[in-house]
Amino acid sequence: MKEIISVNFEEIYLKGQNQKFFADVLRDQLKTKLKTFGPKLHFAHRHGGSIFIEVNENLEPDEWESIKKIISQTPGVTGFYKALQIPADKDRIIETALRLDEEKILKAKSFRVTAKRLDKTAAFTSRELAADVGAAIVQKFGTKVDLTRPDYTIYIKVRKDGALIYDEMIPGIGGLPVGTSGKAVALLSGGIDSPVAAFMAMTRGLEVTAVHFHSVPKTSPQSIEKVKALAKKLTAFQPKLKLYIIPVLPIQQAIARHTDSKLRLILLRRFMYMLATKIAEQESAKALITGDSLGQVASQTLENLMAISEVTSLFLFRPLIALDKKYIIEKAREIGTYDISIQPHDDACALFTPKRPETKAKPDYVRKEWNRLDVEQLLKQAMQSVKIFEIQ
Ligand code: ATP
Ligand code: MG
Repeated sequence: MKEIISVNFEEIYLKGQNQKFFADVLRDQLKTKLKTFGPKLHFAHRHGGSIFIEVNENLEPDEWESIKKIISQTPGVTGFYKALQIPADKDRIIETALRLDEEKILKAKSFRVTAKRLDKTAAFTSRELAADVGAAIVQKFGTKVDLTRPDYTIYIKVRKDGALIYDEMIPGIGGLPVGTSGKAVALLSGGIDSPVAAFMAMTRGLEVTAVHFHSVPKTSPQSIEKVKALAKKLTAFQPKLKLYIIPVLPIQQAIARHTDSKLRLILLRRFMYMLATKIAEQESAKALITGDSLGQVASQTLENLMAISEVTSLFLFRPLIALDKKYIIEKAREIGTYDISIQPHDDACALFTPKRPETKAKPDYVRKEWNRLDVEQLLKQAMQSVKIFEIQ
């Protein structure tokens, strides 16, 4: 008797030629993420919309829990299960079903058997198999059958190379495998929103490089550690994450010295976008990701977002633009970044913030104030101080 893990992925997006590419990327990522389990897991063949992983040695319950967590956090996985693989013989299947998890069967008020015969040459039909296994369970445990809302389900798949039997289908986060949609640079602050935005981009197949801007020593270096911790959390979804750390204090000082204080935030954001665009060029990334949500703060009005965005020709990806804070917080909790994000930190943007920032920036006026600055020199200086961390 062998144990296998079957990982399913969405097939709708993955027609024809692309399917192999998507499956290979997903398989590589699972391999990387599950590396610590070494020879216990063997990546076997792929079959339609499933990747099969053979379990070579018994897994301890806590090992299976870790594996479950890892697979369920891998973008592109729609669902998965761990099954026993046995010969496709009806008596063997019944015997196995009876011993699958007695405790669960006894606890359940009702159950059902869902059988699927993929091998049309098998000596029995799906319906016969389900009925016979069901009858054996009723006889042994007295549990009631309920086909519509069962407490417990035994799944059986009969294939050419044997029958698979399991009782737990675990949902994945869905989406597309990281990297299959290309690369993007995420502007990662220490706040609640941007890690969620980066996560959402990852689940649509973007491989993310993160960039953070700080004002050390005017702000505490602790804020950088915080962003590293957030990046680390994001590696649950994308196994390796490059993090660029860029000081913007000289830029902020120049802005404070030479321009209308109402525009400080907008001008700083323009620098952030330009620097992120330079990083994107280095990384061959085609888009920027931000955590903006329309109207949430002063810099996020339509007028201000437009005045900021015009400095880059990259595609701007703002996955949270129409989401309520409530929903964003819920997501942040789900992906485990919330508790880090709410720790107090000095925000680069809060520094030099005017009492009444502009909320309806006029493009001509923004450009006029912008032109008071030695933009090229400031960009060059910032790029010379870039630090890179590989988070994994
Ligand atoms: P967040 O919770 O992500 O900080 P926010 O609601 O506080 O977002 P802003 O502070 O206006 O909004 O920032 C909007 C977006 O600009 C952020 O989501 C992030 O993508 C980017 N951003 C802001 N500050 C920084 C920073 N210091 N480093 C990198 N990106 C930043
Ligand atoms: Mg913020």
